[in-house]
Amino acid sequence: MPITQKRRVRSIARTDELRAAGVSARALAGAVRSGAIIRLRRGVYARADAPIDVRRAAAHGGMLCCLSAARQAGLWVVEHAGLHVAIGHRDRVHAHPGCRCVTHRTVRPVVLGRRSSIRRALLEILRCAGDEACFASLESALARGLLSSADREWLGIRMPAQHRWMLEFARDDAASGLESLLRFRLRADGIVLQAQVEIPGVGRVDFVLGDRLILEVDGVLGHADAVESRHKDLVRDAIAAGLGFDTLRFDYEMVVRDWPTVRAAVLGKLGLGLHVSVGVLRFG
Ligand SMILES: [Zn+2]
Ligand SMILES: [Zn+2]
Repeated sequence: MPITQKRRVRSIARTDELRAAGVSARALAGAVRSGAIIRLRRGVYARADAPIDVRRAAAHGGMLCCLSAARQAGLWVVEHAGLHVAIGHRDRVHAHPGCRCVTHRTVRPVVLGRRSSIRRALLEILRCAGDEACFASLESALARGLLSSADREWLGIRMPAQHRWMLEFARDDAASGLESLLRFRLRADGIVLQAQVEIPGVGRVDFVLGDRLILEVDGVLGHADAVESRHKDLVRDAIAAGLGFDTLRFDYEMVVRDWPTVRAAVLGKLGLGLHVSVGVLRFG
């Protein structure tokens, strides 16, 4: 049986684990020659089908954690450079080609080939990348049904008190991280948005501010989709306008890289006095 099919061999394994799984030195050498197994460094091997980030983390000397673990788990994460890798507090960081890793030292067990659990990764993101990054991945985890109530409780116990409000504020129906970022940031201005609002004749919109302003956040689409989608958006906006709504639309570039313009647009609408009736609260 080829090594890669041996049940007990994980995607990343040390020589002693391979030996314990009954892999001979000769079989290992053969598998490396055939490309089924990749030698990461002396004594550490990866199956060729192990995800590239998992292999790189192991080459660095640890396992994926923080933003990289969240991304590996399929969550939306804020942009970041380099892999975030948990390394045992006594373990060595290894040099490897193209290393831009962010090392997280930990006293918890580090198992090559594994990653931080989602709840652990959220805590790591909070400490490493801040509350906003944590919130966006938290809502992404909730939307995918990947956080149990026990996980939320676990987070509530471990999160610093000043961040615990996020667990209450987080929703399980955010369609993208952009929606999470928009809601999170406008809250800092005391602006409360109603999310996923059904407007008769228009359909479901991302957010309504007050009773007359619609905020929509557009994801990234391919060109052909984009043309069709633009037409649909224009029709929606026209129907909404007929019902007395204004619509503001923002895309990834604006929310992520040009927040001042987004904020000024929303505050500008509020400043006109047209949308202040409901939904604006000042936090003490
Ligand atoms: Zn590295
Ligand atoms: Zn990190």
